[in-house]
Amino acid sequence: MSSVIEQIEQQIANLQTKAVKSNTGKIVQVADGVAKVDGLSEVMYNEMIEFPGGAIGIALNLEEDEVGVVILGEANHLKQGDECKCTGQLLSVPVGKGLLGRVVNALGQPIDGKGAIESSDTYPVERIAPGVIARKSVDQPLMTGIKSVDSMIPIGRGQRELIIGDRGTGKTSIALDTIINQANINKVGLASGDENFRPVYSIYVAVGQKNSNVARTIGVLEEAGALEYTIIVSAPAADAAANQYIAPYAGAAMSEYFMHNGMDALIVYDDLSKHAAAYRQMSLILKRPSGREAYPGDVFYLHSRLLERSARVNEENGNGSVTALPIIETLAGDLAAYIPTNVISITDGQIFLETDLFNQGIRPAVSVGLSVSRVGSAAQIKATKQVAGKLKLELAQFRELAAFAQFGSDLDAKTKSQLDRGARIVELFKQPAFSPVSIELQVAILWGMQNNYYDAVDVSDIVAAAGSVGEFFTSRKESLLDSIRNKAKLDDTLNDELKKAFEEWKPTFSA
Ligand code: ATP
Ligand code: MG
Repeated sequence: MSSVIEQIEQQIANLQTKAVKSNTGKIVQVADGVAKVDGLSEVMYNEMIEFPGGAIGIALNLEEDEVGVVILGEANHLKQGDECKCTGQLLSVPVGKGLLGRVVNALGQPIDGKGAIESSDTYPVERIAPGVIARKSVDQPLMTGIKSVDSMIPIGRGQRELIIGDRGTGKTSIALDTIINQANINKVGLASGDENFRPVYSIYVAVGQKNSNVARTIGVLEEAGALEYTIIVSAPAADAAANQYIAPYAGAAMSEYFMHNGMDALIVYDDLSKHAAAYRQMSLILKRPSGREAYPGDVFYLHSRLLERSARVNEENGNGSVTALPIIETLAGDLAAYIPTNVISITDGQIFLETDLFNQGIRPAVSVGLSVSRVGSAAQIKATKQVAGKLKLELAQFRELAAFAQFGSDLDAKTKSQLDRGARIVELFKQPAFSPVSIELQVAILWGMQNNYYDAVDVSDIVAAAGSVGEFFTSRKESLLDSIRNKAKLDDTLNDELKKAFEEWKPTFSA
C-alpha cells in the first residue's frame, strides 16, 4: 500500500508545471475566418501569424489558454491540428510613391494586374498618432473644387471632415471631386516649377463596396487624369471581414508615409459604416461581448485611433499633413445612431447631404444648416471669405423664410427680395459631379453674386449664367484669374478689374 502512495508522491514532486514558451501553435478550431490557436505563448497583439499555404492572420484575442487569430483572405484550406507560427512582425504594408496610380488590397498587394509594386519601405498598419507637441494648427486650405463646400464649409490640410448622408446622396462624388480637384492643382503646380508648391497625394480606401462600384470609381479617376496621384485600397464586400477591418489602417499607413516625409496627403474612407459592420462581424465571431446595436464596446476606439492619425505636423517634424474625409452612411437621415454620433464627435466637422435636397435637384445636396467645419476657416483664403462671408447667412435665412412663405401669399417686399436672392444663391451653388471648379474661378463667380450681377437673370437661368461666367473668365480673363490666385485677397485693383470683366460679360450672356 505504502509503496503506491510513495509512488504517487514521487510523481507529484517531479511534476513540471512551468509554462513553456513557444512560438508555434496548433489550430484548435477554425471557422468563419477565425482560428483559435493553442500555443503561441510569446505572441504580441496585432502580430502577423503565418499559417500553412502562406495564409496570414493577425492575433487579436490574447486569452489565457488560447489565441484568437483572424485570417486575412482565404481560410478554407485550414483545419484543426494545422501548425502556425509567430512572425515577430506587426502587420505592415508597402508604402511610398511607387503605389501611386495603383489599386491594392488591404495588405498592399497589387490587384490591378499592372505587375509588382516598386516600394522599398513598409509601415506598420497600426501606429500611434502624432502627439500634441508634433502638431500644428490647420492653416493651409485643401480645396474640394465644390463651390458650396469651399465657400461655406472650408477644409484645411490636416483636418478631418466627415461626409455623411443617406444612400445615394452624392457622398462618394464629393470625395472624388476633391481628389480630382487636387490632381488638377498638382498638374498646374508641378508644371510651374515653383519649389514652394506642395502637391497633395490621395488615398481612396473602399471598404465593403461592390466591385462594380470600385471599378466605376477607378474609371472616374482615370478619365479625369487623377489616378496617377492616387492610391486605391480596396477591400470589397466579397473580402473577408478581417480584410475590410484592416483596409483603412493600411490606407492610413500609406498616407503617413507622405506626412512623415514632409508631403501632404488626403485620405478618403468610403465608408466607415461598413467598416464598423465588418468589425462587429469579426468581434462576434471572436466572441467578444457586444454592446449597443450589437457593436463591441471598443468600436469608438476603432475609429478614433484611425482618425487621430490624420494631422498637420509642425516644421520640426517636416511640415507634412494627412487630411481625412471619412464617409458615413445614415439611415433615413438619422444622425443620432451609434456610429454616426461617434464619428461626428471624433471629426472636426461634417458635410451633411440631404436626400430631400438631392431629390429636388439641388446637387451637391449639402445641407448648409447642418454642415460645419470647425477649424477650416482658419485655412480659407481671404478672397473667398470676402465674397462668401454673407452667403451662408443669407442661405440659412432663405431656408427659414421659404419654409413658412409657402403658406402665405402676401409677402412684404423685403421678404420677397430675400427669397429671391436665396433662390439665386441655391442655383449658383449647383454643380455637376466630377467637375471641380478652381478656387480663383469660384471667387469670380461668387463675386458676381455679391455684386448683384445675376439679379437680372431669371432664377432658372442662373446655372447657365454661372457656366457662361466660367467660360468667359477661363477663355478671356486668364491673367485676372492668375492674380486672384496669387494674391489670394481682393484689393481695390482686383475689385475694379472684376467689375470691368463682369460689365464686359453681361452683354455676352443671353439665356
Ligand atoms: P452610396 O450610398 O451608394 O455610396 P453615394 O452617397 O456615395 O451613394 P454617389 O455614388 O456619389 O452617392 O452619387 C449617387 C448618384 O448621384 C450618382 O449617380 C451620381 O452620379 C449622382 N450625383 C452625385 N453628385 C451629383 C451632382 N453634383 N450632380 C448630379 N448628379 C450627382
Ligand atoms: Mg458611395
